[in-house]
Amino acid sequence: MTDQSDTKADIPDENSEAAKPWWKQKSLAEMSRPEWESICDHCAKCCLNKLEDDSDGTVYYTDIACDLLNAKTCQCGDYANRETLVPDCVRLTMDNLDDLYWMPPSCAYRLLHEGNDLPEWHHLVTGDKDSIHQAGESITGRFVYSKTIDENNWEERIVEWPLEMKR
Ligand code: SF4
Ligand code: SF4
Repeated sequence: MTDQSDTKADIPDENSEAAKPWWKQKSLAEMSRPEWESICDHCAKCCLNKLEDDSDGTVYYTDIACDLLNAKTCQCGDYANRETLVPDCVRLTMDNLDDLYWMPPSCAYRLLHEGNDLPEWHHLVTGDKDSIHQAGESITGRFVYSKTIDENNWEERIVEWPLEMKR
């Protein structure tokens, strides 16, 4: 006969810290640089041009992407030099998370910062970097580059899909 009390003690409570994935065991501020970088899902929605209504601050997404974006990988074409090459590129850090109200609802940093978990299609959950594309949550295949659209016509390219997300 086994000692049932010992066996039970070995099973972690599903609500305990130890049972949570590592990204729920610490805050964004507590993450190492590699951990922080691994949180990004590479949706590239933040690389879409946005329009802000001056009267009420509403942010509208367009389907026009930064010219530096790599269409195949959905990642920045020159991450190290992006702030020099694209002065408008906002660098996401632990210090400006509170100001990033314009980030898409699916942004992994925004989700964790607001106390939510990562969605089921996130690569840290699935173990597959392509799962975001398969879930239709990245911008791959549905954007145009800035250089192809006159800025006066950006309003015509406003879209809703960057603000939608599947869990
Ligand atoms: S510079 Fe890179 S990270 Fe910044 S908006 Fe352009 S593609 Fe995205
Ligand atoms: S929206 Fe967030 S998760 Fe998506 S690419 Fe930008 S920083 Fe990464």
